[in-house]
Amino acid sequence: MKIGNNYFILFQNCIPTKGISRSIIADYQRGTHYFIPNGLYDLIGDFRLLTTNQIVEKYFDQGLTQEMFLEYLEYLEENELGHYTDTPDSFPLIEEVFETPSLIHDAIIEWSDYHKSHLSQLIKQINDVGCKFLEIRSFSGGYTSDFEEFVKLMRSTKIRGVVIYCNYIDNDLQDLENLVHEFQIITNLFLHSCNVDPITISAKPEIVITKTVLTNNNCCGYLGKEFNVNLPHYLESRNFNPCLNKKFSIDEKGMIKNCPSISANSMQTYIERSIIDQIKDASFQQIWKTTKDQIDVCMHCEFRYICGDCRSGVGISQKPRHCKYNPLIMSYEN
Ligand code: SF4
Repeated sequence: MKIGNNYFILFQNCIPTKGISRSIIADYQRGTHYFIPNGLYDLIGDFRLLTTNQIVEKYFDQGLTQEMFLEYLEYLEENELGHYTDTPDSFPLIEEVFETPSLIHDAIIEWSDYHKSHLSQLIKQINDVGCKFLEIRSFSGGYTSDFEEFVKLMRSTKIRGVVIYCNYIDNDLQDLENLVHEFQIITNLFLHSCNVDPITISAKPEIVITKTVLTNNNCCGYLGKEFNVNLPHYLESRNFNPCLNKKFSIDEKGMIKNCPSISANSMQTYIERSIIDQIKDASFQQIWKTTKDQIDVCMHCEFRYICGDCRSGVGISQKPRHCKYNPLIMSYEN
């Protein structure tokens, strides 16, 4: 195709994000992303409004030549990020809303004797808020029959997956493997604080023994260089905080929190006031609306809608403490 009285538009699932020094186009269908210069990002804003000819005319004074624009379009076409059309309105943009039917998507429980005395009550309340995924963290105890009792109670609930972290206590590995296979709802079992090198004894469900010592929630917040390039994550990140939205945690004393690293909102346990009542408070959900566009540094980062977030050890608008990426210089710092 040539530049003329036609339009060039990005595919609906290919969405650009501008950073301070460069931009990306994320292909949310194929789960990958491409870097583009900010100059091209600015042109993309006019793709649906102006023909390719009109774009060159408009930006000619700013140094855009036909050859340069054609090179940009060839790059986009070669990578299957966009296409020529005469009718851009026939390809409407994706509506950027994020809605799910349940009040809560996932929850983290810090395991303790307190919960062991209220297992049925706890499971009923977690089910009442529609929670689908649970993470159970035990910092000082091993895998015991208490977990099995808890997991058995989940059989008639909406919970679809459970990840368990607990101490390695010289368990019989074959027994563990048999148990995890019996309870299909357990997707991952991590046995931490072992004195041997990491061993994966089962891939699915995943059972991993690791030397990593977990004694508290400082384990939170390690955002790697792996990104979540998928449409639900993008839409959630555009509208909500991708780490805290539709999430709660319960500490060892039964207090309800937004996440393990954030202080309890009210000083009441789930026995004193139900999880659903505490979560429905506007003050509890306020933090769900803190998007990456409102967080220092992240707001200038081209990865902000494909990255996660973590509020562990930082204020509500501070960059996650373990992220080493500097969007200004476009590289990771030591
Ligand atoms: S600065 Fe770090 S945490 Fe923030 S969006 Fe970029 S990569 Fe993610």
